[in-house]
Amino acid sequence: MSTTKPGLREQTSLRTTFRVLGVVLLVVALVLLGLGLADFFASMNSDGEFPTRFWMAFVGVLLLGPAGWCLQAGFVGTASRYVAGETAPVVKDSAAYLTDGEGVLGVGRTVDDAEPARVTASGPFCSTCGTRNDADASYCDRCGAALAG
Ligand SMILES: [Zn+2]
Repeated sequence: MSTTKPGLREQTSLRTTFRVLGVVLLVVALVLLGLGLADFFASMNSDGEFPTRFWMAFVGVLLLGPAGWCLQAGFVGTASRYVAGETAPVVKDSAAYLTDGEGVLGVGRTVDDAEPARVTASGPFCSTCGTRNDADASYCDRCGAALAG
């Protein structure tokens, strides 16, 4: 963990609070839900006894909402931030690659892909398209025509 960014540390402690709170709420909700349902089914088996603890099931269901919210804030938020942190540099690199002059301008101009070779080439000119090729080239770099010499 970085100690140079207190803001991040506060976010981390806040997420930890959400995680603990979410887990506690989830456990309480599941326990209440289980107790309520168990009491409900137990009273169904006995004769006409009203399920006095069935309210626990309702409370448990109600608690599942905030429990899920806390867990989402504590865990999923972290996951999405992690994914964003992992993919953002890639996107940035891709954008830099696409905008460094070769990418965006090069799109649709595949003919110019051979240009670097032509710049440094010192060999024969192509008699078909005029591109200068490497000295030892047998075929034109640009159009593929056989070179005279
Ligand atoms: Zn050519």
